[in-house]
Amino acid sequence: MIDVNQEYTREVDCEYKGEKYKVRDNGAILRMPREGKTKRPKDQIWTFGETISRGYAWFCGEAVHRIVAVAFLGEPPTKQHVVDHIDTNRQNNRPENLRWLTKLENILLNPITKAKIEYLCGSVEEFLDNPSQLSGHENEDANFAWMRAVSSDEARNTLISWEKLLNKSRMEIRSRENPIEEWIFGQNRGNQNEMNFIDDVEFAVNEDTKKVISEEDVVISSVLSSKVDEKVKERPISKTEFMSAALQICEREGWRYKKYYKADGWKADVFISKENQSVAISAFNSVSAFIKSMPKIGLGGVKWYGLILSPKKDDVSECPCFSLHRNENIMDVAIADNKVSLDSFIKKALDGKIEHITRANITAVDVLFEQIECYFCHEPHYIHYVRYLIDEKGKKWDLAYIDDCDLPDLRFGKEILEVVKSYIENHPEKGVVMGEVKKRYSRTMEQSYMSFGCPKCDGILGDFHLRDLEMRLIYETDEQKMDRIQLKRPFEVTVSEWVVKD
Ligand SMILES: [Zn+2]
Repeated sequence: MIDVNQEYTREVDCEYKGEKYKVRDNGAILRMPREGKTKRPKDQIWTFGETISRGYAWFCGEAVHRIVAVAFLGEPPTKQHVVDHIDTNRQNNRPENLRWLTKLENILLNPITKAKIEYLCGSVEEFLDNPSQLSGHENEDANFAWMRAVSSDEARNTLISWEKLLNKSRMEIRSRENPIEEWIFGQNRGNQNEMNFIDDVEFAVNEDTKKVISEEDVVISSVLSSKVDEKVKERPISKTEFMSAALQICEREGWRYKKYYKADGWKADVFISKENQSVAISAFNSVSAFIKSMPKIGLGGVKWYGLILSPKKDDVSECPCFSLHRNENIMDVAIADNKVSLDSFIKKALDGKIEHITRANITAVDVLFEQIECYFCHEPHYIHYVRYLIDEKGKKWDLAYIDDCDLPDLRFGKEILEVVKSYIENHPEKGVVMGEVKKRYSRTMEQSYMSFGCPKCDGILGDFHLRDLEMRLIYETDEQKMDRIQLKRPFEVTVSEWVVKD
């Protein structure tokens, strides 16, 4: 287990949401006991966080990175500011890796969005100078819908901060300080990611089996992902093999192609045309090699994709680069959870059916009703837990990967309580009994807070128990037991996923 006391040079005091913390520049925090009150079990213990959810480290329901940001960077300039992990590793909570960004800045730093804007406007600066020049383009691409909301004031302010941001852009940091493979595949990420759990038993996901494992010692996602990497090791595909497969497909389909195509400012291993559509595809040995070619994307308006020949893990998130796998005599391209054959990948790419989604409009939720027993009178009753978000097209989004700052309160928010209540009333056959959700006083915590409670004796379901239960439900989700509930007021969330459209 990593010792949280090691490797820090500065320690500062800060106040966050009414609690006092000590925070170190290695990302460790310690919550102080409240004045005049007895020490709570989790007070005065140094920790990097006790659980990992949505990729972030959490301590008693608070995101650790926000506490570290407030301690070292000060309060957010506005309520609209979010914390950005500069190297994109959500568990690297060292202050130098954190910064406050507006949502617009955050969007503009996405390499795909940036490349598109550069293609359409010349540069991000030119876009910010006159945001209206993109009007009309919002409807071409669902990913550009955010532009409607960009006010000239916001654009002007962003223009001022933009150069500063670029000096420390995500890409540069990724390639300069962290080799890109480490960033993406989570290998050798260093000690700062190891979590010191203060509970005896914690839950973490084994990405391979999605089974809950409980260990007394440290459980870290990077260790788990490297285990997965070993299992998916396959003989790498050579560039020659890829080229010969791609050209064979072109010959068979009767598409025009050019090998090792060079255009003004960009190049591709194979440039394929079908009627008026064309697509450029290049193979790379690693994601870092792909990233180095990223600035050339979008030049000439050509759809441009990278295929990784020696994939370590499929998830490459926001970049138009996918891993190539052997599948007996053919090759498969992995796009998010899908695998498509190389020929159907090229076909889809030519037809513009490979799309990067950054916004999802959530219209329903998949809810688990979990039976629990009252701590006081042992009466069985239920709690609700929102596990997935469902967008208007019926696509299921795992809540564990959705950025928290976009979300309404899905536990005790007015809307969720309302729809859950009417769902239970309309489905008496399910036998779901729930106590009222309201503020109750907790003797352990010596404070009142919103809680689930017992329908018989009104006993509180304590916060610690609720969060432990929720952590378990994330990793032990019984997919059969879920209920889909429509929302009355849809909301938008930021996502990042490549999809293959039908
Ligand atoms: Zn009870």
